[in-house]
Amino acid sequence: MSQTPHSDPDCLFCKIAAGRIPSRKVYEDDELFVFHDINPAAPVHFLMVPKEHIESLAHADARHELLLGRMLSLVSKLALEQGCNPGTAGGFRVVMNNGREGGQEVLHLHLHVMGGPRPWKRG
Ligand code: AMP
Ligand code: ZN
Repeated sequence: MSQTPHSDPDCLFCKIAAGRIPSRKVYEDDELFVFHDINPAAPVHFLMVPKEHIESLAHADARHELLLGRMLSLVSKLALEQGCNPGTAGGFRVVMNNGREGGQEVLHLHLHVMGGPRPWKRG
């Protein structure tokens, strides 16, 4: 039996990952939940969160190495599936904001994955 990951009942992304707040889901497995950003900055813009409530990279440690590696190694496949263009002429951007001065608004660790033809709305 798998252990329920630590979650914060007041956290927006914990609620989304648990299906308690609706989202446009892209992908889900035991550890990760991926969904479209509600205010996309680019033609493709989705967010990848661990189901475990980790506030930011500053709150991650060696126990999270495998999880963080899994997140990064999954991005490319999902980016292509969601419409990012392949190869060096295409590509995608991965952003992780950490802490208020790092531009993080939702305090649950997440990757932004953005791509698609330019110009983008932001960035
Ligand atoms: P950050 O500033 O890195 O914390 O980014 C938070 C992101 O979450 C922003 O790009 C928001 O548009 C996005 N966001 C906020 N609420 C929701 C929601 N309910 N569903 C999907 N994305 C959201
Ligand atoms: Zn959370």
